[in-house]
Amino acid sequence: MPLIQRALQLNDYELTFKHVETPAALRAILTGGDWDLIAGSAATLLLEENRRTTALNRIEHSIAATLNLPTVLSRLAQQTRECFDADESNIYLPDADERSLRMISARRGTTQIIESTGLPLEADIIRHVVRSGKSVFIPENGDETLAHSLPGTSQPPGTLICAPLMINNQIIGLMALTRYTSATPFTQTDLNLLSELAPQAAVAIRNAQLYSAEQQRTSELADALARQNELAQHKDQFIQNISHELRTPIAIARGYAELLDNGSLGDLQPDQQEPAAIVARRLRMLSSLVSDINTIFEVESQRRSFTDVDITALANNAVSDFKTLAKNAKITLTANITTAPLLVSGDPIQLRRALDNLMINALKFTPEGGSITVHLKKESANAVLEVIDTGVGIPEDKLGRIFERFYQVEVAMSRRHGGSGLGLSLVKQIVESHNGTIEVESAPGAGSTFKITLPLLTEASQSSLKPNHTTTRAGD
Ligand code: ADP
Repeated sequence: MPLIQRALQLNDYELTFKHVETPAALRAILTGGDWDLIAGSAATLLLEENRRTTALNRIEHSIAATLNLPTVLSRLAQQTRECFDADESNIYLPDADERSLRMISARRGTTQIIESTGLPLEADIIRHVVRSGKSVFIPENGDETLAHSLPGTSQPPGTLICAPLMINNQIIGLMALTRYTSATPFTQTDLNLLSELAPQAAVAIRNAQLYSAEQQRTSELADALARQNELAQHKDQFIQNISHELRTPIAIARGYAELLDNGSLGDLQPDQQEPAAIVARRLRMLSSLVSDINTIFEVESQRRSFTDVDITALANNAVSDFKTLAKNAKITLTANITTAPLLVSGDPIQLRRALDNLMINALKFTPEGGSITVHLKKESANAVLEVIDTGVGIPEDKLGRIFERFYQVEVAMSRRHGGSGLGLSLVKQIVESHNGTIEVESAPGAGSTFKITLPLLTEASQSSLKPNHTTTRAGD
């Protein structure tokens, strides 16, 4: 025994223990006396095992480096076949219907990956591994029935190793390596190495499966969004066509209704006056609705001619234009407007329309005795225009929606005041097409403040510095 110990010290015998699995077997070989042979086979085994471990590491890195499922599977099959010098390396996964198996197979002599589907789940060897959750090693002259039951192989294996692909104790598939001839049969070491690789392989496959499911969902969502956009475009086109076609007949009808109403076509009978007034009023509303719709599409399609617009003049004009309306509604209208001209680049008609809509709303939603203030000032490089009212206000949960097309907080109330729910969406669209922003602060009973911020023209970009300059006085 001391002799054996010395021999163990002189040679790297931890390797020998891997080669010979029990102390009794080691003793039997040692007492056989062929010491050189033992040291030799140990060293060979070490080299072989190192080579395999390095190869396994390479496989693990290679399959973890991609999330593309077909690439993961083909790399795994191909590289494992090479590493184990197998005739076939097969990966089995459940088919989409979960009732059969699909196989991804790499075979000796070809770089092509073979794929089969519809393979039986009930094959003996599959059942065996799934039930036990353990790897199987069928050595040369092993259980032939079990070996031959491996589905999808091109030749019955002479020897095989098969390991489950498991994640959290759940089998997601199997890997099987076969050699047709038993010239160099698999060993227990081969099975150990395959069992070491299997968990990493399972993780790589599961990650790629999750990624591909996510990709699928993303592409379905993108398709749905594209379909929705297409439908929205059709709808917009439809509304645009209708409103365009309605514009002229409504303008004509409105013109005649107003002539009737104001007596230009002769005096009306007392019982005709009210109906004529209603027709004229309704046609005015209809005409304003159609005109709002047309403006929305005009702003969208960027049909605009921008020039230098003085917002100070625009705000002053609006206040003076609304004076009478406010007085009639018994509302105090105040201007708190800077005296300095504030120039922005824009479409004067659209900008005036935006301010008009805010003023109309302030008037509509402010009861008698209330007040409206138009406030304009320069704030750093912006013109900040506010329309502040002391009206009914807007509930907090509705504030996010009032800029949507056709949205009205309280339909019954809005109907009483007239309006289509297009006004604010139009204001927002106009302001944003001028690179500005619109914000609102409001609370029920506490009034509302609509704040428009527009970027001022820098001195260098003002057309006043260019030849043929015209500055539009908004509202002129
Ligand atoms: P409408 O044609 O109904 O006025 P808008 O798009 O201009 O449509 O406004 C949408 C809704 O926002 C209005 O129906 C109203 O409920 C609310 N709203 C707008 N401005 C005010 C305001 N100044 N005070 C209270 N509510 C307002």
